[in-house]
Amino acid sequence: MEVGSAAVEFEKLVTPSEGAPIRVSDGRLEVPARPIIPFIAGDGVGPDVTTAARRVLDAAVAKTWTGTRRLVWFEVFAGDAAQERYGEVLPADTLKAIETFLVALKGPLTTPVGGGIRSLNVTLRQVLDLYACIRPVRYITGLPAPVKHPEQMDMVIFRENTEDVYAGIEWRAGSAEAKQLIAYLNGSMGASIRADSGVGIKPISITGSKRLVRKAIQYALEAGRRSVTLVHKGNIMKFTEGAFRDWGYEVAREEFVGALVTEAEVEARHGGRVPAGQLLLNDRIADNMFQQVLTRTSDYDVLATTNLNGDYLSDACAAQIGGLGMAPGANIGDCIGIFEATHGTAPKYAGQNKVNPGSAILSGVMMLEYLGWKEAAGRISRAIEQTVAEKVVTYDLARQMTGAKEVGTSEFADAIIERL
Ligand code: NAP
Repeated sequence: MEVGSAAVEFEKLVTPSEGAPIRVSDGRLEVPARPIIPFIAGDGVGPDVTTAARRVLDAAVAKTWTGTRRLVWFEVFAGDAAQERYGEVLPADTLKAIETFLVALKGPLTTPVGGGIRSLNVTLRQVLDLYACIRPVRYITGLPAPVKHPEQMDMVIFRENTEDVYAGIEWRAGSAEAKQLIAYLNGSMGASIRADSGVGIKPISITGSKRLVRKAIQYALEAGRRSVTLVHKGNIMKFTEGAFRDWGYEVAREEFVGALVTEAEVEARHGGRVPAGQLLLNDRIADNMFQQVLTRTSDYDVLATTNLNGDYLSDACAAQIGGLGMAPGANIGDCIGIFEATHGTAPKYAGQNKVNPGSAILSGVMMLEYLGWKEAAGRISRAIEQTVAEKVVTYDLARQMTGAKEVGTSEFADAIIERL
């Protein structure tokens, strides 16, 4: 197998004999008719939901292109399965396969407790520089939801994935490092930090902020969305959160001239109305944003935000439309994309064919969209909507619905496949 000019050699993996790698040209993916797609089945319920997702994706692609296109799956390993084969949870083979083939599907992974690795998921994102965590949040009619108008929610959250609290710089209260840092900050930087404090550092860079906001704006323009809202806590943290907002506006001014207007410009020059064909760029302080997603849900569209704000906001928005069970996600860098369910390994249900594969399947839908295979993606979305509307659902949804027909993981996938 040749990728670029170098042959790819793995320690223990064997590259599929058919299919071809996705390549990148001028920053855009060139997807062959039979792309090789690495997948990590995952720990706990991972194999259940990943298998269901692959079956639905394969069926949708087959139905849409009757054999002229096909996903060529390539199993790679992380977590428990990697520990068994390689004696480590994240082998170089796995990283190399994803770097080579660019687009991967991933099941949830257990975070080893007390090991040297903080979180496998965070490590994957950092090592592969997958700087945007993208979480679309859209209501599927019929899902049980805690708000009166869940259908008003249709947002895509772009959360920065490498900085802020994910940079992981912190020291335990009383440690030598914390004492040294506190002494320095108090002695030389004019701070007055209590001696018994734990200390964390929250870096937010121009580079990290601009590339995240750039991706959000590019997405919004390509997808024909109405607005991008920068979410920050800049009223309190001016040089990190406030700077994120400023750099967001800066990248818009520098790189998207004529494509968007700011809220201030709409008021000053356009009589309070966004001109046709223009994207609105505005910003909101995070606490205000949390109430706005509830009280003015339909006013918001694409959100771009820092790591911690995005963490909270993604789950809060998902809760509004019925929880994490059907919430998809992707971690994307300049080219590499890993698509994964947002839930964890739910170990008590492992291997029981019980849990909801909706989140994994919808992450697969995002993957097909990323490949540009939108017809197959749309087909699956519609089939899921129909399946839920007919109340054929897994236990998690069935227990909140009246008159539902409860099915297992693979039967839910079958029901979707029947409706493709
Ligand atoms: P979790 O695995 O998401 O499970 C928590 C609960 O959420 C489950 O007991 C179940 O609720 C519900 N749930 C999760 N997935 C579901 C599905 N597909 N269908 C229906 N219900 C589902 O969270 P956790 O127990 O906190 O974490 C377990 C492990 O997963 C940890 O090692 C954690 O580090 C890891 N994790 C990995 C990822 C990732 O790989 N991206 C993400 C999060 C957590 P009920 O009990 O009410 O049925």
